[in-house]
Amino acid sequence: MNHINLLNEFVDKFGEGGDIRGYFTPGRVNLIGEYTDFNGGYVFPCGLTMGTYMVARKRADRKLYMYSMNFEKKGVVQSSLDEFVNGLEKNWTMYPKGVMWAFEEKGYPLTYGYDFLVYGNIPNGSGLSSSASLEVLTGIMLKDMNGTKDIDSRNGIDNSDSNDDIHGISLQDIALIGQFAENKYVGVNCGIMDQFAVAMAKKDYAIFLDTNNLSYKYVPLKLGKYKIVIISSNKKRSLADSKYNERRSECEQALALLQTRKKVSCLCDLTVADFNEIQDVIADDILLARAKHVIYENERTKNAVTALEINDIVEFGKLMNESHRSLRDDFEVTGVELDLLVQEAQKCEGVVGSRMTGAGFGGCTVSIVRDDCIDAFIEQVGKTYEEEIGYSADFYVAGVGDGAHKIDIDGVNYVE
Ligand code: ADP
Ligand code: MG
Repeated sequence: MNHINLLNEFVDKFGEGGDIRGYFTPGRVNLIGEYTDFNGGYVFPCGLTMGTYMVARKRADRKLYMYSMNFEKKGVVQSSLDEFVNGLEKNWTMYPKGVMWAFEEKGYPLTYGYDFLVYGNIPNGSGLSSSASLEVLTGIMLKDMNGTKDIDSRNGIDNSDSNDDIHGISLQDIALIGQFAENKYVGVNCGIMDQFAVAMAKKDYAIFLDTNNLSYKYVPLKLGKYKIVIISSNKKRSLADSKYNERRSECEQALALLQTRKKVSCLCDLTVADFNEIQDVIADDILLARAKHVIYENERTKNAVTALEINDIVEFGKLMNESHRSLRDDFEVTGVELDLLVQEAQKCEGVVGSRMTGAGFGGCTVSIVRDDCIDAFIEQVGKTYEEEIGYSADFYVAGVGDGAHKIDIDGVNYVE
């Protein structure tokens, strides 16, 4: 993509004038803690510098005019705040409309519609949460357009004296509203990690999040001479169609059995030691393997954070490798493309760890690679992948960026 000026693009589509504002929300990559989020466990994502941009202007009526530069052919999609068709839309606009619907459902009625333009540089459908990015982006736009104060609670700004209900919504609330929209409007049964991560991310930190109670801490990503390299397999996965819901149901079945032996509310309430003591209650090998992945992965995630805190990158990498093995053999959500990318990555010089990230069945891997080995890594893994799979993978040396925020669009913000 060449350099683009978002304001010019907006004016080109919707005309000049009025109060035009800009917003950004990143994508995210989960470093470790996969399939723990709907089991009440830990996850460890960070925000990316890749993300989704929105330029918006409030209208005087209830209409919505929506344009995505990533879906040029769809042109400007027209709708209104009175046309929510929950669960039936199959257009990119179901994400922003779902969030508007969710605002209303949660008791924040919207009065006016919007003209808005969207542009994103996160590969779609690759497990880097472009959908959550678009949802949270819509949420911060709605909040900002319906209030007068700074949206950014990370700056410690107190919004409590506002009379406007929407104005009192926090970034965490927006994350929850985004998840609600994705669950109920879009129809994808995702956990809270994605929306939370893209809302709350912080430059050069990862978020150690307990999905059970949303307590979290920022952990500095001090990788020294190493970088995070994301590889998109370019094998498309669709979360709604995938085995994601099947895995959820298997986890629920395993939990119900374990609950007959121990009083817990989710799989991740169990430690590895607890699990080993009572696992014989699960007779079915598949359910047993699913539960084992979740409980061990939760423990690995805690250990990975400790490893990072004491600068033990090698240990962090080992835990990533073990995470992949477990996702492949016990949880069975990888597939030939992801397995090949990880296997080849792990063979390369300067790689401390590599694993699939996101929901699996395609999408991306994440690897920790030493600076001076990155070129050779890309060359070697890229070549083998193309030879064996028949199409190429895309490589991104990840920048770790801030969560959802307002941007200045007065002609100075160019996006590559
Ligand atoms: P992921 O969240 O892993 O990227 P999903 O399938 O959950 O994959 O979400 C991808 C969908 O989100 C796209 O097909 C599109 O409908 C929507 N989307 C994401 N980014 C944009 C964008 N920049 N413009 C319009 N729609 C987008
Ligand atoms: Mg998604």
